[in-house]
Formats: sequence, structure tokens, C-alpha cells
Amino acid sequence: MAKIGRRFEGKVAIVTASTQGIGFGIAERLGLEGAAVVISSRRQKNVDEAVEKLKGKGIEVLGLVCHVSDAQQRNNLVEKTVEKYGKIDVIVCNAAANPTVDGILETKESVLDKLWEINVKTSILLLQVAAPHLQKGSSVIFISSITGFHPPQGLAMYGVTKTALLGLTKALAAEMAPNTRVNCVAPGFVPTHFASFLTTNESIKKSLLEKTLLNRLGTTHDMAAAAAYLASDDASYVTGETLIVAGGTPSRL
Ligand code: NAP
Repeated sequence: MAKIGRRFEGKVAIVTASTQGIGFGIAERLGLEGAAVVISSRRQKNVDEAVEKLKGKGIEVLGLVCHVSDAQQRNNLVEKTVEKYGKIDVIVCNAAANPTVDGILETKESVLDKLWEINVKTSILLLQVAAPHLQKGSSVIFISSITGFHPPQGLAMYGVTKTALLGLTKALAAEMAPNTRVNCVAPGFVPTHFASFLTTNESIKKSLLEKTLLNRLGTTHDMAAAAAYLASDDASYVTGETLIVAGGTPSRL
């Protein structure tokens, strides 16, 4: 990892779905740069373990259980953050589900609903609750995906929900300006639990690697560095943008 600064001294950051993988990496990075971080996920045990890891690195951290679909837990996430730290400067909406490999026309209505709910709607609902507490100069980050640019077979509807986040980024950037910037990170493939069905299959992994120019998969540190840039004052004139962090995998011009 490159040498890191202290861009988030005095800032308060909420990262959803952050007890492992990319969300944990982002929380760790923001915390190492001085932020008080509020981490959460569905399971208390995972929250407790992640809190211990972050505390072990000297990070100021609050851990809460929050299944992003649970309205009460979303409200509690915002309330407890404000109770403890008094404000919110950064929100990273990182939760996603990928419950199917079916084609879009074969996907059951309940599964379509779940994809829309977890991957798009709950981020909007969380921001509705959090918005009154966002400071001047605050920042919202969505975590989309390289699949949002060209939804692939097997990840098609998931990819479409990630395309929706590109539009949501633009729309909310206009709605929340000038006090809050809204940006998005579109990761390439990162070997996390979420992507393990792809990255542990040697032939799929080879085809993913071949699509990159840099001949490697992404890391949680790559994604954390991008999210931290967008959330920081280094990006104070950047809003409504999506930063693709995918090693040169074809996306858009
Ligand atoms: P991951 O390593 O599997 O971690 C998922 C995290 O989310 C865990 O902390 C999990 O903890 C939590 N979680 C899962 N469902 C949740 C829910 N409904 N509510 C709250 N927390 C929940 O996943 P990841 O690969 O880092 O993925 C994170 C984000 O990156 C997702 O938006 C994904 O679409 C995106 N992304 C990933 C890749 C990749 O290749 N990995 C590529 C592009 C985009 P609990 O089990 O305790 O809830």
C-alpha cells in the first residue's frame, strides 16, 4: 500500500456492509486517515470481529448490526452515529446481493425485487434518513461494478442494478449539491467472499484476468484508495462521477 495521509481527521464516516471485503477495506482506510468510522453488517459476530480488528489498528470505530433492508436498523445506524459523534461527513453505500445466475427473462419476480431492494433502494432509504445530518462538504459514495457498464451473462440483472447506481449518482449529485458531493466507484473483480464463485474458478479467473490490461485482479486496497480519494477534499471539485477501478477492463470511453 502507498503511504497514506490523514485526510479525514475530525470526520465521521458510515460504511454499510463493512465487516469484510471492500466495505471493510474502505472503513479501514478512512479510519487510518483519521476518520471515526461506523461499520455494520447483518451479523453481530462479524461486527464484533471487525471492530476488534480496526481498534487494533488504532482506529476510532463504532460497530452496529444493520441489515440494509431493515428500516429500524437503518434508522438506528444513523441515530447511534449522531448520538456518538454528532454529525456525518461521509456515507459509503456498499451493500449488494447477487442471488441468481439466471438470465433476466428467467429471473423470478421475488428475486428481481430483492436485487432492486438491496442494490439500489435501501441506499436511497438510508440517505433519506441520513441527509439531515450531512455536513457542508460531505460526501456520498456508491459502490457500483464494472458489470454495470456491460452486464455479463450470469450477472446480468445484478449488473443492471449496478448500472442504475451510475444514474443515481448523477441524479443525487444534482439534488444534494452544493453541500454534498455524490460519486461512485465501479470496481473490477476482487477476490472477496462475494466474488469467490468467480475468482476461485480457474477458467473464469483466467478470462477475467485476460480482460484487464494490468493482468491482475483488484484488491480491497485498490477500491479503498479510490473511495477515499472521492470522499476527501482532494476531490472537492468532483461530483456526479464514477471512477472505474478495474485494471483497464473495457468499460466506456
Ligand atoms: P464481501 O467481501 O462478501 O462482503 C460483504 C459484506 O457485506 C460483509 O461484511 C457482509 O457481512 C455484508 N452484508 C452482506 N449483505 C448485507 C446486507 N443485506 N446488509 C448489510 N450488510 C450486508 O463483498 P464485497 O466483494 O466486498 O462486495 C462489496 C460491494 O462491492 C458490493 O456492492 C459488490 O456489488 C461490490 N463489488 C464487488 C466486486 C468483487 O469482485 N468483489 C466487484 C464489483 C463490485 P454479513 O454477512 O455479516 O452481513
